[in-house]
Amino acid sequence: MFGKLTAPTVDLLFPRRCLVCGSFDTHLCERCAGAVRIQDSQRCSVCEAPTPWGLTHPGCLNSAKLDGILAAGNFKQLQYLVHAMKYQLLQDLAVPLGRILTEGVRHYGLENFFSDFIIIPVPLHAAKLRYRGFNQSALLAQTIASELALTLAPRGLERVKNTDSQSMLPKPQRLQNIRGAFACPEPEVVAGKKILLIDDLATSCATLHECAKVLKRAKAEMVWGLVLAHG
Ligand SMILES: [Zn+2]
Ligand SMILES: [Zn+2]
Repeated sequence: MFGKLTAPTVDLLFPRRCLVCGSFDTHLCERCAGAVRIQDSQRCSVCEAPTPWGLTHPGCLNSAKLDGILAAGNFKQLQYLVHAMKYQLLQDLAVPLGRILTEGVRHYGLENFFSDFIIIPVPLHAAKLRYRGFNQSALLAQTIASELALTLAPRGLERVKNTDSQSMLPKPQRLQNIRGAFACPEPEVVAGKKILLIDDLATSCATLHECAKVLKRAKAEMVWGLVLAHG
């Protein structure tokens, strides 16, 4: 009888329930998505000290670093939902989580600042993409690009090295692990442009700095990160 499951049958057998309150029909209901706290303070991605809007301190900035990172929400509140999206493969969480990114941008009044940025998701290696079936950062990027009417360059970066998961490694090894992992296959798309990199969670920011370094080598003018939370 399980030979051919249609989508409605799957929903009947495994009904979608809100991961926070348990209500039916969705993995994150509107009420619980609306209760996610937007982060009131931001930190520098290099020295971790507070800074307005997540701007990298002038003394912390160089051509291998992000110009800034905006973290929309609270790490403890969002980590569980991001893990559910990635590891329980709950792809449809990307829409409500993507809207939280948009809310973060609006909370800080940065819609105008980002209005001439191009959106690029942090890419997954092809092997990981085959395994998971989707890149959560690319789905988040689609949502925010459509909500803020920004240009999306889904292939602005490519992952050329299949690295170990950064979260499994101690902080000092993360930079080493991620080095050389990215390439810029279409440099003409990023040259002279401002880039907004989208990722789910940032901890050491090693991945985002490595992306920024590659994009700046390809002559990107400025590179910011936008993430759900900065741990
Ligand atoms: Zn709920
Ligand atoms: Zn700093």
